[in-house]
Amino acid sequence: MKSYKPPIQSKLPHVKTTIFTTVGRLALAHNALNLSQGFPNFDPDPNLLKLVSKAMQNGHNQYAPMPGLPQLREVIAHKIKNLHQAEYDPEEEITITVGATQAIFSAITAFVRPGDEVIVIKPAYDCYEPAIEVNGGIPVFVQLSSMDFKVDWEALRRAINTKTKMVIINTPHNPSGHILTKTDMLKLQEILRDTSIILISDEVYEHIVFDGKAHESASRFEDLASRCFVCASFGKTFHVTGWKMGYCAAPAALMHEFRKTHQFNVFSVDHPVQWAMAEYLENEAHYMELNTFYQKKRDLFLDGLQKSRFKFTPSEGTYFQLLDYSNISDESDVVLAKRLTIENKLASIPMSVFNVDQRDDKLLRFCFAKTEDTLEKATAILNTI
Ligand code: PMP
Ligand code: GLN
Repeated sequence: MKSYKPPIQSKLPHVKTTIFTTVGRLALAHNALNLSQGFPNFDPDPNLLKLVSKAMQNGHNQYAPMPGLPQLREVIAHKIKNLHQAEYDPEEEITITVGATQAIFSAITAFVRPGDEVIVIKPAYDCYEPAIEVNGGIPVFVQLSSMDFKVDWEALRRAINTKTKMVIINTPHNPSGHILTKTDMLKLQEILRDTSIILISDEVYEHIVFDGKAHESASRFEDLASRCFVCASFGKTFHVTGWKMGYCAAPAALMHEFRKTHQFNVFSVDHPVQWAMAEYLENEAHYMELNTFYQKKRDLFLDGLQKSRFKFTPSEGTYFQLLDYSNISDESDVVLAKRLTIENKLASIPMSVFNVDQRDDKLLRFCFAKTEDTLEKATAILNTI
């Protein structure tokens, strides 16, 4: 292939291949146990697979309606009402997306103009900043302390000015495993009340919350909900990250603008999977039992580490656990994560990649959405370090 000659002015000059790809490749090359990227290493419910197959056999193989299958939007509206007492009109206020990633990208693209500021709480999942920047927006960071990962709401209040278009929150939080409490959400509601700021609430781990704690969805708080895109992921909830399907819910006026972007971005989303999800979601046990399912895995992982030299605070939600290695090594987290992958055959994600200026807090992130056998092997390795 002849090379492209004119100079390229990248719209995302700082973006590199994501850490998930880099570490994933390293894990593969060195035959390491992979607790890095967040995905389950077990199969989804066979009944869900059967439902997709049934939808295909039944001929649902052409384009789905642009905002998503009506039956699926209806069960989602019902689920949100049951869990959070919030009313969303399935016709106007819920859209099915290509994972939460596309929901977040389309919401940002629909509203952020060049020069607009978007507040991002760091450490943050990696898809927010490029989506802001490619639209000419400016990410403004509020960094959490690695001591407790509590949001300093006064710092967030100070970050707001007349250019602030949006705030993005994520609860349960990737990578810290921290959750926002009712008090946090009320504080945020009070801060945003007299502004026209739009909120994105990334709630992809909504059904993975431990120790009897509650997931405080933004949809529970009337004034937050009135300005918010609540984003969710079936990939996370039903162990099918590869299907890339999710949804977002927002008041009609916001969703109307969202759909203008959505219809020219993807138009519509995988049709047979939507039929399957609509039927599968009817049984609420399919998502209400997830907390217990993942808490067992978290506990197995942490019980296995009681005698290790790592320090940790149990994750409150998500399927990630941070381990503090400051007692063990002075190496940077990136160097240690690579060394553990190559020498000890165990891959994790260095926390610094999620922080402002790659601040290194000597923390590694491990995904415990794995079989018991994998978790036992992983703890055996960690105990030797
Ligand atoms: N937000 C967070 C916090 C995540 O961890 C992920 C990872 N999957 C996503 C969004 C993206 O979700 P999806 O795979 O449904 O696009
Ligand atoms: N959400 C997953 C994680 O944090 C990764 C998804 C991706 O690779 N982009 O590990």
